[in-house]
This record gives sequence, C-alpha cells and structure tokens, in this order.
Amino acid sequence: MTAPDSTSAPRLKKLIRQDVQSMHAYAIQDSAGMIKLDAMENPHRLPAALQAHLGQRLGALALNRYPDGRIDDLRHALADYAGMPEGFDIMLGNGSDELIGLLAMACDVPGASILAPEPGFVMYGMSAKLQGLTFIGVPLTADFELDEAAMLAAIAQHQPSITYLAYPNNPTANLWDDAVIEKIINAVGAQGGLVVMDEAYQPFSSKSYIDRIAKHRHVLLLRTLSKFGLAGVRIGYLMGPKALIAEIDKVRPPYNISVLNYECALFALEHGDVFASQARELVAQRALLLAALSAMKGVKAWKSDANMILVRVPDAAKTFEGMKQRKVLVKNVSKMHPLLANCLRVTVGTAEENVQMLAALEKSL
Ligand SMILES: *Cc1c(COP(=O)(O)O)cnc(C)c1O
Repeated sequence: MTAPDSTSAPRLKKLIRQDVQSMHAYAIQDSAGMIKLDAMENPHRLPAALQAHLGQRLGALALNRYPDGRIDDLRHALADYAGMPEGFDIMLGNGSDELIGLLAMACDVPGASILAPEPGFVMYGMSAKLQGLTFIGVPLTADFELDEAAMLAAIAQHQPSITYLAYPNNPTANLWDDAVIEKIINAVGAQGGLVVMDEAYQPFSSKSYIDRIAKHRHVLLLRTLSKFGLAGVRIGYLMGPKALIAEIDKVRPPYNISVLNYECALFALEHGDVFASQARELVAQRALLLAALSAMKGVKAWKSDANMILVRVPDAAKTFEGMKQRKVLVKNVSKMHPLLANCLRVTVGTAEENVQMLAALEKSL
C-alpha cells in the first residue's frame, strides 16, 4: 500500500464555484431522542397491517430494472387525486424540491429572474442562485399578507420568469387574499411570465387553487406527498398546461423517481382514506393548539391553514433552547427574515406530542 499522492489532491478552491464555497449547506437538525416538530412531517406512521402489506409489495419489485411504465400509473393516480383539469399534464419530481430546481434550470435564459414573497420557502431563492438566476424577494406586510403594491411594482420592474406563491405559505402558514393573487397572476401573465402556486400544505388547507387553474395558460400547480405523510418517500408533482409541462419535463433526469418511491406512493393513494383521516386529526389538533397558544401569556400565535403554527415569543433563542433541553425540537425561524423576529415555527404533532410541546414552551418562555 502506498500513501495517496499529495500532488493529485483536487484544487477545491479553484474547482468549486466561489458562490458555492461561501454557501452554507442546508441544515438538518439532529433529532435523536426528541419530539420532532421542526419539519412539518405527519407524525403518524402506517398502521401495522398496511406496513406488512407494503413490505410484501416492495419486496416483490424488480429492483434490478430501471423504473418503467408504472410511473405513468402514479402520474394518473396523482392527477385523479388532485382533480387535474382537461388539457393539463403532470410531471413528477424527487420531492417538489427537485421540481423547483428543474423549473429554474428550464428557465435559465440570460437575465432571467425568479420572484417570491418573503419570508417564504427557502428553496425558491436557493434554486435561483444555484442556477445563476437573480432572485427577487418581496417582503410581506407585517401581518404576513401579500403587499399588493410592492408585488405589482416588482413584477413590472423585473418581469420575472417565475413568480412563486405558496398557498398556504411556509413558514407563516396562512393563505393570501384571493383578489390580490388574481391581480398578481394577471400582471405576470401580461408580461409573459409563469406563476407557480405551491400547495405543499394542501391536505390541511381550507382552499386550493386547483379549481381556478384552468382559467390560465401560465399558472402551474406544485404539490408534494411529503406533508401528506410520505416525507421519506420523496414524491413531488407539478401540474400545468400540456405544452408547458412538455418543455419543463425535458430537463428532468430520466429515472428521477425510483421503483420504491412510486410503488410506495401508489400504495398510499390506494389507502387515501387512512391519510385523509390523519389529516383531519391534525387539523383538529391544530385548532386545539391554536386555542392553547392564544391563551398563553407572552405568546402570539397566527392562524394556520397548514400543519404548522407560527408563534412569537419574547426571546426566541432562549425559548428554542429551553424546549430543546426538554426534548422538544421546533424550528427557530427568527433569523430568517426581519418580519420573523422572535418567531418559532411549530409542527402540529399527535395529541400527546402537542401536550408535551405546550408544556415545554410554557416553561421555556
Ligand atoms: C416542504 C415544502 C416543499 C418541499 O417539499 P418536498 O419534500 O421537497 O416535496 C415545497 N414547498 C413548500 C412551501 C414546502 O413547505
């Protein structure tokens, strides 16, 4: 055995993009032994009988083969589940994160930009920057509504290729005014851009844009099975007018959805009633949590249409650490944006988890 030749070490400083070198990797918090309420996961697992049934199905798959036409069964099942209108098509991503990246790649023409309200989902800005596109973040109002005048002015000024509207938004968990959304969609349409409505939290939301999407030829609807209950499986889907999806689909890696991923997702959709009842339970828990949080002295909680609640406390860093010591992991979003000063984002968990979360929060204020 000889030692590796030191002269062959790659010159990372030269090889790796300067902007990538100065980036921080996406931080995933260590959650071992914690009540995990930091990432909007569904706290429920499959019932034991379904676990066994799924195991058999996965075990029998041809893992030696590349993913095949079965992927189309999943595309059709998701289109049915979502109520996709005529004339639309659907493409799948390895989580919607991948689709957000593919959208930036497909729209990477010189001078292109991507716009989204802020605070919002971090991947919109991240995907733009990684692709070398300009990202324009437009601040929400202090109560997390769309700033109509600022949004329309930014759209007129920058003519973004893609405008993202998360409906409901992450991390603020609210839906936005439909009349303002319609004005934004029309303004983007008038200058030839695309709007992506991101409905990651649709299973918990009182509204969806799906019924209005057929009115437009420049609006895409992005969804995921992650918050539904399959965060570990990685399936996102993008629906839009056929011609538009056909173009974006060209930049998708051919085998981006594994055999295991699509079979799991099909299985879950066959048992959609199980997941629907989990979502109903979480919505009921959300109401209980909101009532308890609103009654807690020193805490401000915002109304939610998702499986998370944004709260403001007197000292977010102190409360976050206190909760962590009490084995409850939430997300400290207070440094993400000035509008989120002293805010924590709490995922809605099971009834027992929520009771422990509330106790930990109250003791950590
Ligand atoms: C969680 C989330 C996603 C990404 O979900 P995937 O797990 O990548 O499918 C997309 N958009 C928003 C707003 C989210 O909160």
